[in-house]
Amino acid sequence: MGALEGRVAIVTGSTSGIGLGIARSLAAEGCSILLNGFGEPETIERLRAELAARWGVRVAYSSADMRRPDEIEAMVGQARHELGRVDILVNNAGIQHVAPVHEFPVERWDDVIAVNLSAAFHAIRTALPQMLERNWGRIVNIASAHGLVASVHKAAYVAAKHGLVGLTKVVALETAETGVTCNAICPGWVLTPLVQKQIDDRATRGGIPVEEAKRALLAEKQPSREFVTPEQIGALTVFLCSPAAAEIRGAALPVDGGWTAQ
Ligand code: NAD
Repeated sequence: MGALEGRVAIVTGSTSGIGLGIARSLAAEGCSILLNGFGEPETIERLRAELAARWGVRVAYSSADMRRPDEIEAMVGQARHELGRVDILVNNAGIQHVAPVHEFPVERWDDVIAVNLSAAFHAIRTALPQMLERNWGRIVNIASAHGLVASVHKAAYVAAKHGLVGLTKVVALETAETGVTCNAICPGWVLTPLVQKQIDDRATRGGIPVEEAKRALLAEKQPSREFVTPEQIGALTVFLCSPAAAEIRGAALPVDGGWTAQ
């Protein structure tokens, strides 16, 4: 029996990267999953079927766009309808845009704030009431080292992730006397498509090989000079869902190779 047998989780942005790692870790503990995110329908169906077959759990998929409150509400409704309930909500979907603040495209600002911050608000306000009814729930917000410290050219991302850490604290306080907890995980660099794009841009800008750009990216921020893995973020999410973590409330937990210790 997995530790999360009978539980149901929504993991937003779980067709790729960290979200997929979290979905796999939760499914491996017996948790049913509602996957969400963009991608080719055949690829997503393959992922859905693979998770279900490998761990014998129910796996559904929602194509909800995290920029749209109505689609987020429908996603939570779909999880209840198809999987029976929502016990665990992992707000993970996220996007990046890099530009100096005075050149930052307004529509990119709006999208980053919508996906990385407002989507978590809409998912939480929709999913929380039925967690409170059963007096058990786990909300895990995937923030970032950029939820704790800043970097140049990431105005929208840093603002959204700091906002997400703030939202985490408020939800944790409002649920403090219940069986629902809310925490944030703050990863450093994880080698996913979101970061690969920044590595490729750095290589092009500097006229250097991609491997050198990768080393430079790590050396600049992450003292361990190793990437964090989606599996490590998945394992921490599983821990936050365990009874041992019942009194971890409103925390913003860095998993960043020492980035924010500096
Ligand atoms: P990724 O690009 O690999 O995955 C992002 C996921 O979000 C994909 O499934 C994508 O389809 C989905 N998505 C994007 N826009 C969406 C939308 N409008 N609606 C629904 N789904 C949408 O990125 P990742 O690196 O795995 O990032 C996952 C989370 O982790 C993000 O919140 C990111 O900010 C955070 N994070 C990543 C790193 C890192 O180094 N990779 C570090 C810290 C925090």
